[in-house]
This record gives sequence, C-alpha cells and structure tokens, in this order.
Amino acid sequence: MSRFTAVPGSKTSLQVVTVGSHSGLEALTTAQGKAVFIAGAGCVGLAQALAFLDLGYTVILHDPKALTPWQAESTDLKVFAVNHVNADFLNKIGGWEKIAALRVNPYNQLSLHVGDQEQTTLFTAEEVNLEQLGYMVENAALVQGLLQACQAYGDKFVFLNQIEVTDAQLKYLGGSFSIGNNYAPDSKDLYWQITFSTGLVLNTNLVIAADGANSYWRQKAKIALDIHSYPTRCMMMLVDTDPEVTQAYAHLTWQQVDQDGPKAWLPVNASQGVLCWYDQIPTINALSKLSPEQLKQKVLTNYPLEKIGTNFTIRQVGSFPLARQRAKHYWQNKVLLLGDAAHTVSPLAGQGLNLGLQDVQCLTRLFADPSFRDLHALALVYASERFVDNSLMQEFLSVLHHAYISRSPLAKAFRENMYRVSGITSVKHYALNYANGDRSLLRGFSEIGQNVLALLGKK
Ligand SMILES: Cc1cc2nc3c(=O)[nH]c(=O)nc-3n(C[C@H](O)[C@H](O)[C@H](O)COP(=O)(O)OP(=O)(O)OC[C@H]3O[C@@H](n4cnc5c(N)ncnc54)[C@H](O)[C@@H]3O)c2cc1C
Repeated sequence: MSRFTAVPGSKTSLQVVTVGSHSGLEALTTAQGKAVFIAGAGCVGLAQALAFLDLGYTVILHDPKALTPWQAESTDLKVFAVNHVNADFLNKIGGWEKIAALRVNPYNQLSLHVGDQEQTTLFTAEEVNLEQLGYMVENAALVQGLLQACQAYGDKFVFLNQIEVTDAQLKYLGGSFSIGNNYAPDSKDLYWQITFSTGLVLNTNLVIAADGANSYWRQKAKIALDIHSYPTRCMMMLVDTDPEVTQAYAHLTWQQVDQDGPKAWLPVNASQGVLCWYDQIPTINALSKLSPEQLKQKVLTNYPLEKIGTNFTIRQVGSFPLARQRAKHYWQNKVLLLGDAAHTVSPLAGQGLNLGLQDVQCLTRLFADPSFRDLHALALVYASERFVDNSLMQEFLSVLHHAYISRSPLAKAFRENMYRVSGITSVKHYALNYANGDRSLLRGFSEIGQNVLALLGKK
C-alpha cells in the first residue's frame, strides 16, 4: 500500500488506495486535488455534495442507512419550512428544479397569536418586497430531488450507500500519529484513512461531516459537545382537512401560543398540512398512545378551530425529542462539521435545516474563492463565521422556547408583550429578513476578518 501524498498547492486531497468491490473508482487511485469526501446524505450532506459537483469537484458521499424514498401518493410527515434564500441557493446549484418537480408549497405569510389577545402579529412577504418567504417541503422530497441532481453528474458522483465504515484512522504523512483530545499540532500533514466493509480504502485530508445530531465523525475527531435537552417534545400530525376551511391558510403558516405551549400549522396544500404540538414530555407521551380518533378529540379542544375546522382526519403521527446541541469546534483533526452534526435548535421557528443550508452556502462560497490556497485558513473562516451565526440563533431560540413553554409569570408577560416589539416596523423587518437567511451584516464582519488574514499572509 503506497503512502498518501497530498496534492501540492491544492486545498483538498483524496485518493482511493484500494478499490475493493467498487467499479469506476480507478481514476481516483492517484491523489486528486478536486475531490472531497462527505459523510451523511441528509438534506445538508446532499446539498453540500451538489454544491461541490457544481464547483467541478468529484464527490464521494457516504451514508450507511437507506434513504427514505419520496412517494407521490403519501406525504412525508417531516415537513420543513425552507426559507427563500436557501431555496434560491438550491436553485443556483441545480437542485431546486428536481425538488419542486416532486412537491413544494410556497408560503407568503407567517402569523403569531398569543393566548386570548386580540393582536395577531402578521409577517408578510410583501412587506419585505418578496414574492414568498419560503417553501414547505417534505424531507423525503428534498433528499430525493438533491440525490437525483447529484446523480446527473455521472462518474463524478460516487454514492457509497448502505455500506459501513469498518475502520477510520488519523494518520501523519511523516509516519504514524496518535490522536489526542486536543487540536492536532500541525494539521497540514494529517489525513484520514477510511476503510469500508466493501474493501474500499481511501485517504483524505478533509472529512466533511454532515452525519446528523449523533455524528460519528464528530466523535472520531474528539470534538466536544454542549447539550441542553428541553423538557419538551414536539408531536407532528399529518392531517387531511376540509379545503373550504384551510384554503385560506394554504400559504400561511401560523403559530398559536397558549398557556400549555405552542401549536403550529405547516400547510402542504389547500387540504393537507402538519399540525405541530409542543408540550411537556409526559403530555406528549400520553398523546402518542391515543388512537387517531381520540387524538382528534384532543386537537378539537386545543387548536383554533376557525383555522382547521372540525372536519379533518389524522393520517400520520410522530413525536420528536428536542435539544439544543452545540459542537465546541466546527473544525478539528481534519473533520469539518455541518448541519445537525454541528448544531441543533428548538424547531419552534423552523430554523434547524435552514442553518444547515447556511453552513453549506458559506463553505461553498469559501471553496469558490480563489484567494484561499490553504484548507486550514479556509476551514477556520468557515468555523468562525458559522459558529457565531448558529450560536446567536441557538441562544435566541432557547430564550423563545422557554418563554413559550414556561408557566412562569415572567414568561407570560414576555409572550403577551411580544407583539409590541414586533410592532416596531424596523425590528419586524430585520427579524423577518434574518429568519429568512439574510446574513449581509455578518458577511461584512467576516470579510473584514478575511482581509486581515490576507494581510497577514495566512489565507
Ligand atoms: C420536530 C422537528 C421539526 C423541524 N422543523 C424544521 C423546519 O421547519 N425547518 C427547518 O429548517 N428545520 C426543521 N427541523 C430541523 C431539521 O430536521 C434538521 O435540522 C435537519 O433535518 C438536519 O439535516 P442534516 O442533513 O444535518 O441531518 P440529518 O437529516 O439527520 O441527516 C444525517 C444523515 O447522516 C447519516 N448518517 C448517520 N450516521 C452516519 C455515519 N456514521 N456516516 C455517514 N452518514 C451517517 C444519516 O443516515 C442521515 O442520512 C425540525 C426538526 C424537528 C425535530
């Protein structure tokens, strides 16, 4: 087995050492400078794979699990609100057309109603000069659409699906290296040697880890994690509704916050949508044991009936634990974290996947920037830019989560006065643009930092 030699002058280096039972990998048996390895074929990993393909890279994408297939006749319960900035980005890299051909629903209004208050805070696309704020999309549609777009690149896209990593070792170009708990001293000469159950062995100086909240690669790279579990679960119910009632809400996503926690509506179309119910863990556990008909009775007494009517059928139910997780570093020991592997948030404001797609946008922009010659410098800029943005959102959503769920008088006062703050037009517009992916302010700060790096010759 020959020793791995990084491609000189290139940010990335990837080499297939042993092909194993795979065919079509022969071109990669010499080290390649424009090839990357990505772990995880969720929405974030697939979007990153497509973005690299669009930049002219060869991509090896690995996921040990079978992907959930999209089905025309049944809706995936996991429906996400993808903001317009991320949808535009997916369009730019060639993925949106495939996703939209499956099933998407634009939304142009977002409303928030607290308790018995008269005031409803309404955010509209029109007030920030947009056609829509974003799109409701099933997880399965995102995955399938992005996968199809990647597959259109033929041999440049290698998908290692439903096979296992049997060994992964961090090695040193000059000899052997024993990974410690701290950052590796000079990361330039380090690389991962990864062995798969099919006999494939590859060497790479960069593992892009988009392998979800329980990331295997985060653990391999010894990246520590801060975890805050909320004493709350979220139940999602896919419902068929009476279009006469829900037609008016087909492009509006609403949230009703009462003393027992928030209830929300994610419209799939005029006669179908997902009801979200956030509550204490024992309450959601008890609700999960009910039959669809018994659950319907609970919905009838807990949701605003003028918005969903009484004539609806519950088709699917699932519930999810909620936690805020934060990796302490996004780049360590040649592993770079993206998406839920780096951060998870309370889903109250529909930001989790959107943050992951912002990670993808950031990394893609930096890789496309010819002024970066050094992977380490690039990864540090990525890590600092995304850590700040994601952490700010995580903190904000934690405050919001507790304020929405808590029964304390302080939280109640906060909820009841939120409409006053959001009534200030400039604050409302800033919040709306930020939630919808506008990061111009943050980009400005990052660009100042990059100019300083360039002046110091570290770029
Ligand atoms: C109730 C709820 C509602 C939500 N609503 C919204 C919303 O409206 N909007 C929004 O933006 N976000 C929302 N989110 C958040 C969103 O679901 C996640 O942020 C998003 O799915 C994360 O995508 P990902 O690709 O990073 O991770 P995942 O979707 O978890 O994908 C990770 C992939 O990695 C694979 N994998 C696992 N182990 C390995 C390994 N060892 N090697 C390689 N691959 C591996 C997995 O098989 C999987 O395919 C919600 C979350 C919840 C719980």
